[in-house]
Parts: sequence; structure tokens; C-alpha cells
Amino acid sequence: MTKKYFSDPDLKDKLIIIGGGFAGLRVARFASQKGMYQTLMIDTKDYWEYTPGVPRAIIQPDREKFLVVPHSRNIKSENFLRGQVTEVHADYIIVDEEYQIQYNLLVIASGSRYPSVTGGNVKKRVKKTQPTTGQAGSMKDQFSDSTQRLNSIQLEAEKIKNSKHIVVIGGGAVGVELMGEICTKYPNKMLTIIHAHQLLLNNLSSPEECHKVVKKFFQTQNVNMRLGERVRNAKWENGKYLITTNAAIHNKIEADKVYFCAGYIPNSEFMRKNFDNVLNEKGFIKVDKNFQVEGQTNMYAIGDVISSSEDKTAYAAGEHAKSFISNLKYIKAGQLNKRKAYKPMPSPQPLMAISLGVTRGIFLFKGIIVSTKSMAIKMKSTFEASLCGDFNQDKAILKIDFNKKLRDEVKDSTGKEPASETEEDGNEESIKGVYSALSAMQQQAPEDDDIFH
Ligand SMILES: Cc1cc2nc3c(=O)[nH]c(=O)nc-3n(C[C@H](O)[C@H](O)[C@H](O)COP(=O)(O)OP(=O)(O)OC[C@H]3O[C@@H](n4cnc5c(N)ncnc54)[C@H](O)[C@@H]3O)c2cc1C
Repeated sequence: MTKKYFSDPDLKDKLIIIGGGFAGLRVARFASQKGMYQTLMIDTKDYWEYTPGVPRAIIQPDREKFLVVPHSRNIKSENFLRGQVTEVHADYIIVDEEYQIQYNLLVIASGSRYPSVTGGNVKKRVKKTQPTTGQAGSMKDQFSDSTQRLNSIQLEAEKIKNSKHIVVIGGGAVGVELMGEICTKYPNKMLTIIHAHQLLLNNLSSPEECHKVVKKFFQTQNVNMRLGERVRNAKWENGKYLITTNAAIHNKIEADKVYFCAGYIPNSEFMRKNFDNVLNEKGFIKVDKNFQVEGQTNMYAIGDVISSSEDKTAYAAGEHAKSFISNLKYIKAGQLNKRKAYKPMPSPQPLMAISLGVTRGIFLFKGIIVSTKSMAIKMKSTFEASLCGDFNQDKAILKIDFNKKLRDEVKDSTGKEPASETEEDGNEESIKGVYSALSAMQQQAPEDDDIFH
């Protein structure tokens, strides 16, 4: 059962990181480069994926290759193990129910997932080599390798093309973006978005204004909006999805394709056996202001998997990682009182860029809609470029001419030349505010965190 993964098990403290997403990969890369610990990152996938780009990739699958970065490009093979952590014990973990690996310090960064029509539970012992079935193209895929992921996104694009009725469940940022992509490309399909609240994007600042923009856009694209309606049940039956909602009448919906974009589920099942007490009622891990797991001295948790007041975003996960990294030397030295507490971001996040297909979007800054047209789209692309570039060592995506790319994508998706740049609706004062906020954000990166520069 025991397998030695660390080259020199007795020489140095051993740091294990569970999960190689926005939070975990950042910590693993930093720790393995600094050499303070013997570092091992364990991930069920062999790649990092830029999830904010997935809704568009499902429509334009050629984009996926820019979004998927094999872990081998970011960390050395000796610092990475592909596998599923199935149990956590006080000083060791179990991987694939087979291997026992010791640690001195554990960082849990296993993220979250959306439910799936087939139940939404992570199956135990999913074989590493087993291709994903049924869930191909799922919004976050936990069990594919990078080649399978590229293929599954391609397959998903085909399925969407061949579907007559597509349903998106959830009208938050991810659901709205996904439907925005689908309805832009396929305005003549039957499309439905189901949202439990009366306002789409109800979790953003200025929800009424954002809702108005999205509603108008969806109306022009013939999207059927079922607002204030909750999904009670969804199943796959006789070659169709069957959804039942709580509506008083017409509460059964048949669809060829359904996407769940609501109800994050934490990937924390491996804590149940020995650390059930550190999980909140939904399974998120309870941590203190330094990300230390409640009541545990050698365990930290960051990213989507933690219980926190913040929005679950890639940006927040990255900020958690940066904060943890800046405290790592104190944790190593046992100088816990020197750690700098993390200051949670306000919820809703002040800076948000939501795309509505390729020509429209919402760029929101401190409750003000700065732009709904090209600037919103460019902002989304800029975030994408900076985050992908950070994790992609050849920085391929940074070399892209975004103005050209935007024009090409609009043409590709709508068959028309895009509207001219003069259509911009940006408010100059707000734009200035945005740029100064962005540069302030960049300056906040901790000194120790040299991977950002
Ligand atoms: C379609 C979509 C669009 C999104 N768009 C945006 C956006 O525009 N902006 C934004 O800020 N955020 C967006 N998000 C949210 C963002 O993706 C998450 O907040 C972010 O991924 C959280 O990072 P993380 O590192 O905590 O977890 P993840 O990125 O989920 O990484 C966790 C990793 O842990 C692995 N793992 C899980 N369980 C185990 C286990 N038992 N053993 C080993 N490995 C395990 C997973 O496979 C995964 O690789 C979007 C999410 C989705 C799904």
C-alpha cells in the first residue's frame, strides 16, 4: 500500500497540495521552485484549464487548445502525481484507494463542481485512463486527460449543433455566459434558461440594471426565460432529458441537452471519514483568516472548496493562493503569529466582465455598468489573456491581437462584419477608475510571489 513519492522522504518537510486548479497549481509551482519543502501536487487531471473560457469553447471548440495547459508545462514530473485523493488522515493521505503518502503540511485546493443530471457525485476510483462518459464536455471535467478534454469539447460542440432544445439551469454569471454563446451562434434553436430568482445575474452588484441588459439581449435572441422557477428533478429518459420544475403549470420540460450552472458542490468527500467536523452543512471546509483548517495545525484549504463569504471565482482562488504563499515561510519556521491575515474581497466582486456572446457583454465596476459593448468584451479577453499567460509558459495567448481576434470571432459566429468601435458606450470617468483599480490589484501581489512578474 505504501509508496514513496518523495525522492528523499526523511530529508525535508513534505508538502502535499490536493488539486491543480487556480489555487493549487499556483502554490505547487511556488513551493517546488523555492525548495523549502519537498512538494507534491496531486490532481485527478493532468492539465490546468481556464474555466472562464469554457462557455465559448463549447461553441468554438478550436479555442479549447488555448485554455488547456498540461501540468508538465508548469511543474516538474517529480512534483506531480495524477490521482484521486480518497481519504485524508492526520499525517498521510490515500490516493486512488491504493497509495499512502505522508505529509507534514497539507494544502487542500480541490475546488468545486456543478451537479450533473446523473447525480453529481464524484465516483470513487474513477480510473485515470478511463474516458469520460455521458459527462463529456461538462463545464468542469475532473477526470479527463488533456487530449480527452479537447476531444470531449469538440464532441460537445457537435451535440449542441445537433440539439433542437437546449436548457441551461442557472442564471448566474456562468449560466448567462453559456446561454449568451449558444443563442448568439444558434438563434433559431429552441433555448431555455431556468433561474430560481426573478432577476438574472442576481448575485452581481446592480442586479436590476444587469438583469435589464441580459433580458433585452435574450429577448432579441428568442431565449425562453423561466424566472423564479426551481428545478425539482432532472433525469435522462428515452433519449431525452426530462426536467421537472416547481411551476404550477407547464412544469415538465423535455430537452436534448441540459447544462447545470447552479449549485456549487465542494470536492471535499475525502474529508468525510476523519474530518467531517471541519465541513459546514454543505461540505465546504471551514478555515480561519489564514486559511488554516479549523482545529488543525498542519492543514490549510484555499479556493472554491472553502466556506467563505466571497464569491466562488477564479480570481478569489488566485488571491487565496497568493496570501497563503506569502505566509508559507512563517508556517515553515513555526512563526505563526507573523502570518498576515487574508482580507476577504467584498461580495459581489467590484470588477466583473460577463460576456453575452461575442458582440455584447457587461463590464461592471463598483455597481456601475461601464460598458455593454466592445469594451466589455475586451475586458473579458484581457482577463483571459493575463490568467492564461500566467499559467502557460509559452504565453501563446498573449501574442494574440485581440481586436483582430474579436472581429474574426464576430464574423465567424454571426456571418457579419462587427459593428464599428465608435459604438462603444464606455463612460470615460468610469474607465479611468477601472484602470487605476486594475493597476492597484497588480501591485498587491506579494513580493515573494515571483511567478506573477
Ligand atoms: C464554466 C465555468 C465558467 C467560469 N467562469 C468564471 C469567470 O468568468 N470568472 C471567474 O473568476 N471564475 C469563473 N468560474 C469559477 C472558477 O472556475 C472557479 O472559481 C475556480 O476554478 C476555483 O479554483 P480552485 O483552484 O479552487 O478549484 P479548481 O479550479 O476547480 O481546481 C480544483 C482541482 O482539484 C482537482 N480535484 C478535485 N478533487 C480531487 C481529488 N479528490 N483528488 C485530486 N484532485 C482533485 C480537480 O480536478 C481540479 O483540477 C467559472 C467556472 C465554470 C465551471
